[in-house]
Amino acid sequence: MDPQAQKSLKTGLRSLNEWINSYGAWKPDETLQFSDEKAAKVFDRLTQRLKGNYPFEHPVYAGQMLKPPHPLSWAAYAMAMSINPNNHALDGGPPSSEMEKEAIAELADFFGYGDTYLGHLTASGTIANLEALWIARESHPDKKIAFSDQSHYTHERMCSVLRVEGIKVPVSEDGYFDLDAIDPDQIGTMVVTLGTTGLGEVEPLDQVLPWAREHGIRIHIDAAYGGFFRTLMNSDLIDGTSWQFMQEADSIVVDPHKHGLQPYGCGCVLFKDPSVGKFYKHDSPYTYFTSEDLHLGEISLECSRAGAAAVALWTTLQLFPLKEKEGFGPILTKCRKAALKMYELTNSGSKLKAFKKPELDILGYFPATAYSTSEISSLSKQIFDRGMNDHSYYLSLYRIPTKTFTRLHPEFKADSENVTILRSVFMKPEHEGFVSDLYKNIENRL
Ligand SMILES: *Cc1c(COP(=O)(O)O)cnc(C)c1O
Repeated sequence: MDPQAQKSLKTGLRSLNEWINSYGAWKPDETLQFSDEKAAKVFDRLTQRLKGNYPFEHPVYAGQMLKPPHPLSWAAYAMAMSINPNNHALDGGPPSSEMEKEAIAELADFFGYGDTYLGHLTASGTIANLEALWIARESHPDKKIAFSDQSHYTHERMCSVLRVEGIKVPVSEDGYFDLDAIDPDQIGTMVVTLGTTGLGEVEPLDQVLPWAREHGIRIHIDAAYGGFFRTLMNSDLIDGTSWQFMQEADSIVVDPHKHGLQPYGCGCVLFKDPSVGKFYKHDSPYTYFTSEDLHLGEISLECSRAGAAAVALWTTLQLFPLKEKEGFGPILTKCRKAALKMYELTNSGSKLKAFKKPELDILGYFPATAYSTSEISSLSKQIFDRGMNDHSYYLSLYRIPTKTFTRLHPEFKADSENVTILRSVFMKPEHEGFVSDLYKNIENRL
């Protein structure tokens, strides 16, 4: 852990300890205690076990959407954990509930919702999307929910959980939705993904919005991965078009535990119209009301929720504002630049080729020395294994239907149904300085 976080945590925990002892001296019960040798032995084994992970923190790891939280975020989380507040009810953690409301207000403001919205943190993007689709169903009980092929598989799955019919919208080559292929009268809500999980693609919100308006269709934005890229919408680093319309959507999901520097257990759902709160109505004998204020447990499908998650996010947003030139913007700028740099390297060399130009910080690429799609797949797997075996880099593999692949790369012989390519999520700012080494390392193994 970095020294600054270590110091902050130590000072914070000491002060919290004084506070708890101000209620009178006490000691944890002997049933909860172990000898030093026993604790050391178990922690020694634990340490060995944890080293079985891939080095997510290090720039050599450029595979999946994985990285540790900012050290100060987990210091804040750990401090809250010594109390373990529950943000289900205000009484379960008055300060952490307040901090959740403040963090949510910042996110709502960031996405352009202003002062009227309803929202809260969730355990994950999956649960956040479940809530958004549940509200979609309650708002249009007899209609379907539409999403594209590129959307996260959770939408299809949650439609089945909710027993709503989901339909797939075809996406054309230029990235636009083929809206003529679907009947608008049957659709209640359309999901638009800003930053797909596969290759970080940004779906055309600007195209879908006027069509949805015309037909009275609700819009749900799944920005679980991409949401924080809105900090760059006015820069020349990304195409800001879709991002600029986010406030027009009926609901938005973002995962602070992806690009928001948070530990896992931090998703978020926001609704533009606070009156959807009526769908959450319940009558619980267990929740206690000592306050007339908004009760987070009343607007969430989950009951117990980690107050520590709210504390960590609140602390992070104090340190890293949601701005282009300060806080999150400069971090995402480096991630974006890493992807662009790798894209340029694949364009200038002859051994690797990019599948397509990245829209955010995720790049798909493949060995260009192959002559057919099956050979691309086997070489990609070899490259993937080699880096992992000698610890020089960690990538991920990504499967694409050959039809989609050869549309962009017709020079390769199509001799398989799917083609497996390499994929890197450059979600750490350190990746910007690392991609040239990564490129060289991969090339040397071809
Ligand atoms: C990651 C992701 C999800 C699922 O979120 P979890 O936090 O993993 O449950 C949903 N949609 C998109 C676009 C994602 O990237």
